[in-house]
Amino acid sequence: MELNTKLAILERMIGIYDEFLSQFDLACEKYCAHCCSANVTLTTLEGYRIIDHLETNNLIGQLETIARLAHPDRFIPKVSINRMADICARDGDLPEEPMDPEAGPCPVLTDDACPLYAVRPFGCRCMVSARNCATTGFADMDPFILTVNDVFLQHLEHIDAQGYTGNFADVMGFLADPENRQNYSSGRLGGAPTGLVANQPVFVLMIPPEHRKRIQPLLDQIRSIQPG
Ligand code: SF4
Ligand code: SF4
Repeated sequence: MELNTKLAILERMIGIYDEFLSQFDLACEKYCAHCCSANVTLTTLEGYRIIDHLETNNLIGQLETIARLAHPDRFIPKVSINRMADICARDGDLPEEPMDPEAGPCPVLTDDACPLYAVRPFGCRCMVSARNCATTGFADMDPFILTVNDVFLQHLEHIDAQGYTGNFADVMGFLADPENRQNYSSGRLGGAPTGLVANQPVFVLMIPPEHRKRIQPLLDQIRSIQPG
């Protein structure tokens, strides 16, 4: 699939997700940024979309900031979400994936605002709460939103199945190299480099039985997106 087709599908999926989320009463608002941590992950397709945005808006210097402020203890995934679903479906053992909640803020967070807000990773977009996390100390998320988030993350990986998943700083660092970007856009990526994991298609969706009926209309919407 052509890169532009994948980017168009990504935009459509984000539109469907935002519409879904609009039915919930959420406490999330501008300058509320306790969730903007150094542990955010994303796919290479989302990273490419961010670089496109940085280039178009003369913000490419953000790549240097991301590299400079990348936290040494940031979360680095060992498996992608589709691989994880696959392992769980086969009753396999998931690798230990330690995550330090004190890893610090996201490298691009500026004055409690996101300079990439319009094109932020889905992992940021889907982090929502019914109550302000600063007062509760945790995100209060409807279990159905959690299920929908997993399903979207799985499909986002699916459309970028030839790409990689990784920490925000590592994916952006990889794509900051023009040669890597060229290889990615022409579909010529090899094995995942250190710090990133290979994406794969969806084999099994992580949907608990109690959400199967309710999620069906969203699945129909996702599946109705036509390439091109
Ligand atoms: S998830 Fe929590 S910290 Fe993040 S914007 Fe929403 S309420 Fe604020
Ligand atoms: S990319 Fe933006 S929304 Fe996501 S964690 Fe960083 S500052 Fe927050």
